Amino acid sequence: MNWITNYVRPKINSLFSRREVPENLWTKCDECGTMLFHRELHDNLYVCTNCNNHMYITPRDRFTALFDGGVYSEVAVPAPIEDPLKFRDQKRYPDRLKAARQATGETEAMLVGEGEILKTPVVVAAQDFAFMAGSMGMHVGNAIIAAAERAVAAGKPLVLFSAAGGARMQEGILSLMQMPRTTVAVEMLREAGLPYVVVLTHPTTGGVTASYAMLGDVQIAEPGALICFAGPRVIEQTIRETLPEGFQRAEYLLDHGMLDRVAPRSAHRVEIATVLRMLMGLGPVVHGDLPRPVETTQIDPAPEPEPLPRLESVPDDAPKS
Ligand SMILES: [Zn+2]
Repeated sequence: MNWITNYVRPKINSLFSRREVPENLWTKCDECGTMLFHRELHDNLYVCTNCNNHMYITPRDRFTALFDGGVYSEVAVPAPIEDPLKFRDQKRYPDRLKAARQATGETEAMLVGEGEILKTPVVVAAQDFAFMAGSMGMHVGNAIIAAAERAVAAGKPLVLFSAAGGARMQEGILSLMQMPRTTVAVEMLREAGLPYVVVLTHPTTGGVTASYAMLGDVQIAEPGALICFAGPRVIEQTIRETLPEGFQRAEYLLDHGMLDRVAPRSAHRVEIATVLRMLMGLGPVVHGDLPRPVETTQIDPAPEPEPLPRLESVPDDAPKS
């Protein structure tokens, strides 16, 4: 017992060890291990500044980065019956849903928004891998149908960002039924003559790859994204051969004709607007700072489809003819 252990050390400890370190201030890149400051990572659209690894981004952050001025209106998705099979594995399905809702702040694994990308009106659906691995259940099916119906009613193209571990096993056959359902939704766009563009993000697997994620008129992928039906480990065990490097990754699939483009996240606005405008016979993309679009929250009633504005002909302040 002396004054160092009784007095000095507690004082020093209280000075240094009690300092609260806020969580989530740093994120570790799972590819290269670099510690990335959260705010910088957010500003860089969750792409590692060291190795260009495209990390998880929430659908809301993606929409904010994608739409002009970050402005979009959410398209309502009809809620399906919850837990129709009364499914239970280690946990009850409703408990899993509740936990996912608390963790993500979203009601389900797909978000649909409507707005403009470089002045190109568009409906966008984005799958949320953080919500039960983005698994395709009835809600995801409903979301894609709502997105397609909204796109057809408004005469706008549909862009879909996929990210999923596959079908949601807790919904059994009902989740598998979303494959033909969403295929019909894509067909609705085709019949209306509207483009459907898919952006595959890491990872897109299983029944999602086997349905709507592969039906785009143009297939774009984020760099390094794993895109497959069965994963490399399963294939390796089945054929008993070592797979080539980069197997089932976006760049490999581009080389082998499965994709049309591999585009970094930072280029998505220009990339998507360019592709859509080409497919819809509109004028070229206008670059530069664009005025913030008027915020619209009203979704219904759906207006009559009207011809899309041609950018090159009418500047904003020109008198309407
Ligand atoms: Zn990295």
